Amino acid sequence: MSVVRIENVFKNYTLGEQQVQALIDITLSIEDGVFLAIAGPSGSGKSTILNLIGCIDTPTRGRIFVNGQDVSGKTPDQLADMRARTIGFIFQTFNLFPVLAAAENVEYPLLQLKELSAAERRDRVGKYLDIVGLSKFAGHRPNQLSGGQRQRVAIARALATQPKIVLADEPTANLDHNTGGGILELMKEINRQDKTTFIFSTHDQRVMTMADRLVKIEDGRLTPG
Ligand code: ADP
Ligand code: MG
Repeated sequence: MSVVRIENVFKNYTLGEQQVQALIDITLSIEDGVFLAIAGPSGSGKSTILNLIGCIDTPTRGRIFVNGQDVSGKTPDQLADMRARTIGFIFQTFNLFPVLAAAENVEYPLLQLKELSAAERRDRVGKYLDIVGLSKFAGHRPNQLSGGQRQRVAIARALATQPKIVLADEPTANLDHNTGGGILELMKEINRQDKTTFIFSTHDQRVMTMADRLVKIEDGRLTPG
């Protein structure tokens, strides 16, 4: 089954007088449970694809189905709710709240899931900090953590809502080789155990090697091979 289906999608940005064609006629089906890498040079459209799948942005033309739902017909509120329950994000620059402790960063997206009690939220936070090996750092703020530890907090935050899909935008780009390798192993293990779908954008050869499937993009178009 496809967890994401992108059909003839175009995305244009207007930059002053100029029109930028960020995506040109993209069609792509992504199987449930896959560890997928989208690889391409800087500016090729990788982040744009992830933002569309993540309902952060909408296509100029074409349709996108996420978890069986057509996202084009949804209101901003419906999209926000769907995002909260279906999708976790991991970014190149971690994007943690600097004033919040690790545990509070992980708890943050759970606040949108109104059905969870405070005790259930605490349990979730504890569980996912443990999975990423940071139980002892629950009270530390991001500036008291290394880059690798910050990315682990971001992974715990992305997983805590138990999403179907994790979107990871160049997650190893700001980490040294060994730390990036450890982060990748962790994500692969979660993918194997929980069957969570991972969609990466990357330049990192190791991500491409580890992926079940590799998709290449250049100048806004998917390229064969
Ligand atoms: P990548 O993630 O592969 O580096 P992006 O998806 O960020 O590429 O960008 C694809 C193209 O779209 C680039 O030419 C970029 O400059 C342009 N672009 C991306 N976001 C915007 C935006 N918000 N406004 C204008 N142009 C944008
Ligand atoms: Mg990018």
